[in-house]
Amino acid sequence: MLKGKSAVVTGSTSGIGLAMATAFAKAGANVMLNGFGDKAEIEKTRADLEKEAGVTVLYSAADMTKPAEIAAMIADAEKAFGRLDILVNNAGIQFVSPVEEFPIEKWDQIIAINLSSAFHTIRAAVPIMKKQKWGRIINTASAHALVASPFKSAYVSAKHGIAGLTKTIALEVATDGITVNAIAPGYVWTPLVEKQIPDTARARGITEEQVKNDVILDAQPTKEFVTVEEVADLALYLAGDSARSITGAVLSIDGGWTAQ
Ligand code: NAD
Repeated sequence: MLKGKSAVVTGSTSGIGLAMATAFAKAGANVMLNGFGDKAEIEKTRADLEKEAGVTVLYSAADMTKPAEIAAMIADAEKAFGRLDILVNNAGIQFVSPVEEFPIEKWDQIIAINLSSAFHTIRAAVPIMKKQKWGRIINTASAHALVASPFKSAYVSAKHGIAGLTKTIALEVATDGITVNAIAPGYVWTPLVEKQIPDTARARGITEEQVKNDVILDAQPTKEFVTVEEVADLALYLAGDSARSITGAVLSIDGGWTAQ
């Protein structure tokens, strides 16, 4: 389905990003992974995926808080693959705290990684996609792009921003064969969710078990976590030719969370 195409997925060394990169590679696209983690583990992930999918899989260590590194990552992908068809802005972090105690540097870091990095990648990728007259930009937003939860001021602000960026760029490139969409997952069981449980428990004064059942799964009418594979399948659909008329959309995959 994506044979001959190439994709860059930011934040793809774990969780949702890795599932998306895997889905693209298995569909025949060459992929550039990005993100942090243990060097040897990342190299194993890269080599295993390359072998399993029979495509070229590269890795960029670009830090999504650094605009120059982001621009270099996009340029490297175009140079290595000869084109850039699919860009997924997925890198993201979370921090949970009442606003009056929210560390200023955490606010800046979340806005940089979860929002500004997408501006920088898109800014660098759009000229390449315009040249090709084909492109797919997929931003990982969140249910928190549509609704809020307390104690997540930076994250909710960044994700609402991602929804706005998605719509704006979709309009700018609508006649260039490029679509721009956001996927808005509810709670997906990944390291990002697992790591926020102790802080949420502290901020709300409840146990970690209560956070899982009464806060997290309470938001989701299905009472089940979304899986990374389900999110990746939606990304794969958006990357295909049959999704060419879907643009500027924020697509929920949240077990009914934002229907309430
Ligand atoms: P994760 O922690 O498994 O993955 C995050 C990825 O981002 C990792 O690869 C990490 O190395 C990378 N990353 C972090 N900081 C980076 C930086 N400065 N530069 C480059 N890469 C960086 O988490 P996840 O749950 O898979 O999250 C992926 C995306 O999905 C995020 O944007 C998150 O906000 C969003 N999301 C997650 C959920 C959920 O419930 N897990 C729900 C909605 C949206």
